[in-house]
Amino acid sequence: AIYLDYAATTPVDSRVAAKMIPYLTERFGNPASRSHAFGWAAEGAVELAREQVAALVNADPKEIVWTSGATESNNLAIKGAARFNSARGKHLITIRTEHKSVLDTCRELEREGFTVTYLDVEASGLIDLDKLAAAIRTDTVLLSVMLVNNEIGVIQDVAAIGALCRSKGVLFHVDAAQAAGKVEINLETTPIDLLSLSAHKIYGPKGIGALYVRRKPRVRLEALIHGGGHERGMRSGTLPTHQIVGMGEAYSIARAGMAAENERIRWLRDRLWAGLSAMDEVYLNGDMDARIPHNLNVSFNYVEGESLLMGIKQLAVSSGSACTSASLEPSYVLRALGRSDELAHSSIRFSIGRFTTEAEVDTTIVLVTEAVAKLRELSPLWEM
Ligand code: PMP
Repeated sequence: AIYLDYAATTPVDSRVAAKMIPYLTERFGNPASRSHAFGWAAEGAVELAREQVAALVNADPKEIVWTSGATESNNLAIKGAARFNSARGKHLITIRTEHKSVLDTCRELEREGFTVTYLDVEASGLIDLDKLAAAIRTDTVLLSVMLVNNEIGVIQDVAAIGALCRSKGVLFHVDAAQAAGKVEINLETTPIDLLSLSAHKIYGPKGIGALYVRRKPRVRLEALIHGGGHERGMRSGTLPTHQIVGMGEAYSIARAGMAAENERIRWLRDRLWAGLSAMDEVYLNGDMDARIPHNLNVSFNYVEGESLLMGIKQLAVSSGSACTSASLEPSYVLRALGRSDELAHSSIRFSIGRFTTEAEVDTTIVLVTEAVAKLRELSPLWEM
């Protein structure tokens, strides 16, 4: 099988796994144990990983809070900031193409009495700054916008959005789960207050992530998980040392190799797109320029996405996103771009990664081209 679903998750890099294993066995101490060497060794490893994660996004290690993944980071950032600041205002803004862990968190806050504006995006998948500015009210406390979209790979202009938030006194949260290690993130120069990270999208283990919480000016949150007061009270619970070590190593590898890896992936992406777009009635979803090279989301008109998936069983790709593929509804992200139900239903997300080869891309082009041709022959709507 050919794996082209790196946006859903990635394998743990063998270099990462090798670093993790000692922390499961001989270096098993609790990083919060301050009275003996077992604890000190684990604490040292956790703090090194904190530096590695902070380095990828140019932050201070003290601004990194460990969580179980980007879902938890998004919950902590949005609920934590909204609840802490509720005396100042109870209005939040986000966009329709956010991940469910942002949208459902906002829905939950609506049940608590907050008001949320869900902004539309343009056909490119990008947000219009004027429309955003018009949505900001005097009681707006937080804006949440993802840096890279998980379904279509488009990159939002978070520098400009952040500057707008700063000028209006609105806190700015960014979901960077799909962005870390793929696009430059510089938190020293970009006005972002809260930033969600995950390890398993970038060759680290599942079940570990982080939330960046700005210290200058200081951002305060109400905790979701109470207990021993770990992570400066923001997230209690014994730290999973091996997971944290894995995330640190994965981020360190990503930082060192990002430029070269992006170039190689862009070359593979261009090859894949050239092959697929040689067919008629093939549409790219999302802006072609403001996108990561790792993602190609394509609609094959006159073909039903689920049937196409059945026709290319050797390929691990997704139609819609893995998180929502249990439902047969067309992707809400593609609908938000203004795609018709037909085009939204005929979409496939190809996501390329570190271990994708040229031969795999070439085989993919052949398999998809054959399957699309076969399905179109059977379609009563197809007359070319
Ligand atoms: N946000 C985005 C944009 C994502 O793609 C994902 C992963 N599907 C998440 C959040 C959730 O991340 P995690 O799996 O680490 O909870």
